[in-house]
Amino acid sequence: MKSKYIWMDGDLVPFEQATVHFLTPTLHYGTGVFEGIRCYHTSKGPAIFRLNEHLKRFLDSAHIAGIPDIPFTRRQLVHAVHQVIRANQFTECYIRPLIYMTGPLGLNLDAWQPALGIAAWEWDPFLGRESLEKGVRLMVSSFTRHHPNVMMTKAKIVGNYANSTLAKTIATRAGFDETVMLDPQGFVAECSGENLFLVRDGVVYAPPRATVLEGITRDAVLTLADDLGYEIVEELISRDQLYIADEVFLCGTAAEVVPVREIDFRVIGTGRKGPVTHAIQQSFIQTVCGDGPRSNEWLDYVDETVYAV
Ligand code: PMP
Repeated sequence: MKSKYIWMDGDLVPFEQATVHFLTPTLHYGTGVFEGIRCYHTSKGPAIFRLNEHLKRFLDSAHIAGIPDIPFTRRQLVHAVHQVIRANQFTECYIRPLIYMTGPLGLNLDAWQPALGIAAWEWDPFLGRESLEKGVRLMVSSFTRHHPNVMMTKAKIVGNYANSTLAKTIATRAGFDETVMLDPQGFVAECSGENLFLVRDGVVYAPPRATVLEGITRDAVLTLADDLGYEIVEELISRDQLYIADEVFLCGTAAEVVPVREIDFRVIGTGRKGPVTHAIQQSFIQTVCGDGPRSNEWLDYVDETVYAV
């Protein structure tokens, strides 16, 4: 996760000096918002995948969390992300913007001021490079995904991820790669940090967006699946519908598009990456590498003219 510079409130700060105080309210209460973005190596240089959509969700997360007066515009943040990549001379990296709150401890957001940092580092696919071919094993979590009136599911609020951490940790301690979280009604929501899909009789099914984070990779997958001619249905899914699916796969910025080979000790389909997952994954890889029909629409090539350090 090491890099040379982290962007902090407008300045590129050497890695070791990019620190925050022990009494930072976000550390104590979890109010803050973040994003996860990827930059890919292409023949035209490094390119950021759907940067505008990510930054829009970032600012929307702050809006949902009730954080007012973000001191930077989306345009300034686009420039800042380019600057971080250039300063660190990355050709491929993961990018992590975070808004955290400064000010006195207490629970009143209006007593705090937002601060904003952007880090970047080189990061393999979150569930391991081999997960992309071999697939992963999941268990359904005994922890429930947030009720929308407890912690809102459309925002990447720092504190939301305590729920993800509880669920993911128990799954990995039990020997699984990831966990499926059910919504408060008991239907399939998403994984601890990825969206989930199933395929049955050639149709791609996704849980409705009301209960899940509106993943940007999820949106890309649905668009690419539609481009490939697959029928898509967004509807409530039960855990046993996952068990009898022909294919299950998950996706996220950090994880990318990953086949699922087993859930709760039940083999899914053939237990190997299925043909629909393969087609969508290939199309995704082609797109992020700059060779897909949607590459121009979705890639933001790192600007050589942006001043770095
Ligand atoms: N769900 C959750 C809970 C997540 O944390 C993430 C990662 N941001 C996703 C889904 C996938 O979203 P995206 O494709 O935008 O990374």
